[in-house]
Amino acid sequence: MTLNAVVVGGGIGGVAAAVALHRAGLNVRVYEQATELTEVGAGVSLAVNGLRMLTYLGVQAQVEEAGARHMKTRLSLDDGSPASHNPDQFPRPGRNVGMHRADLLELLANELPPGTIRTGHRAAGFRQDDNGATVTFGNGTTATADVVIGADGIHSALQQSVVEPAEPVFSGVVAYRGLIPRPEDWATDEMRMWLGEGRHFLVFPVRAGQLLNYVGFVQSATEVRESWSAESDPEMLKDHFAGWDPAIKQVIDSISGPGGTGFLWGMYDREPLPRWSDGLLTLLGDAAHPMLPHLGQGVNQALEDAVSLGVLLGAVSDPAGVPGTLKGYETLRRERTARVQLGSRRNGAGYDSSGSQLTDRSWIYSYDAEVEARALLP
Ligand SMILES: Cc1cc2nc3c(=O)[nH]c(=O)nc-3n(C[C@H](O)[C@H](O)[C@H](O)COP(=O)(O)OP(=O)(O)OC[C@H]3O[C@@H](n4cnc5c(N)ncnc54)[C@H](O)[C@@H]3O)c2cc1C
Repeated sequence: MTLNAVVVGGGIGGVAAAVALHRAGLNVRVYEQATELTEVGAGVSLAVNGLRMLTYLGVQAQVEEAGARHMKTRLSLDDGSPASHNPDQFPRPGRNVGMHRADLLELLANELPPGTIRTGHRAAGFRQDDNGATVTFGNGTTATADVVIGADGIHSALQQSVVEPAEPVFSGVVAYRGLIPRPEDWATDEMRMWLGEGRHFLVFPVRAGQLLNYVGFVQSATEVRESWSAESDPEMLKDHFAGWDPAIKQVIDSISGPGGTGFLWGMYDREPLPRWSDGLLTLLGDAAHPMLPHLGQGVNQALEDAVSLGVLLGAVSDPAGVPGTLKGYETLRRERTARVQLGSRRNGAGYDSSGSQLTDRSWIYSYDAEVEARALLP
């Protein structure tokens, strides 16, 4: 029997989950609150553990074409001199691919049959009984399925149907983030990060090297709302990095120029949740494990969730098997993602103290979520 699945949330995590479930033979619908499937104008760094999942999802060639592989990675101190680190404390050369978030979302969405994604549906409620799981939407419609996946982000509406929602934790850091057209004298394939006391600055190319993604992380006593829409002030960013390597000023000067974008983002996470699933409902991505970006793993972990769920639910032929399978998924994923959540906090502190205590990442990168999920199958 073909299982019916509903995914709530059409971000990268939700759409990747839909692709994984579709490939595994489930009937999938995705419900997104926005009227269009869109992503913010910023980049994402795909690490080797996430790229493995994109290969499983069948989009490796498209990712290589639309992304920018980072053949060089360089960690520096604020003046541009090399920062000492062991090879596993930063992405190794040739392993990461930078992508525009909208490009990644689009190429994943293209893997789904037409009509799978339904925009303009904001999930407002959830119930389950012997007939299945039903999501109710703000527009008055409902959707019933054998399994529901809450991929509705850090402010998840579905989380409260599983567990007491965790409070947001402000990290004391704000991020100035956006894209600029790549200046001619910048490499098309180099990821760079500069470390200093109380702040750090990251730059990497995306969209086949046409654009640079930048993020300036700055400690701040003032809480900023979690939001993508707050425009940032490049002059403030310039003040924060005054006296640093002139290459940073070159990036900041381009933000106000043609094609430049800048957002201000308060850095929040949550404590790891004690539970992700209840009966026919489970959580995925930021809805399950919002994390700080200091190990660059939020999207990568969501991709691992998506593939794990696809492998496990693909082996279920009777809806009665769904609750046990979701518990298996949760058991597989919860401990690892909690470790990445807590490691991201620690690594941010390491970056902001000139790199003296950076986290070893080899255990993150060597993991293959598809293999781990398959090992659970009878
Ligand atoms: C500054 C910064 C830099 C980062 N850099 C990286 C990086 O380099 N690498 C990396 O792996 N990660 C990175 N991340 C983390 C990454 O952005 C997130 O972990 C990732 O976007 C989570 O994806 P998601 O699909 O779970 O959630 P989201 O992207 O938040 O998507 C949730 C979707 O659900 C929709 N939605 C919400 N509520 C409802 C509802 N009630 N009904 C229907 N739809 C709803 C939303 O509109 C949205 O489309 C970074 C984060 C930040 C802040």
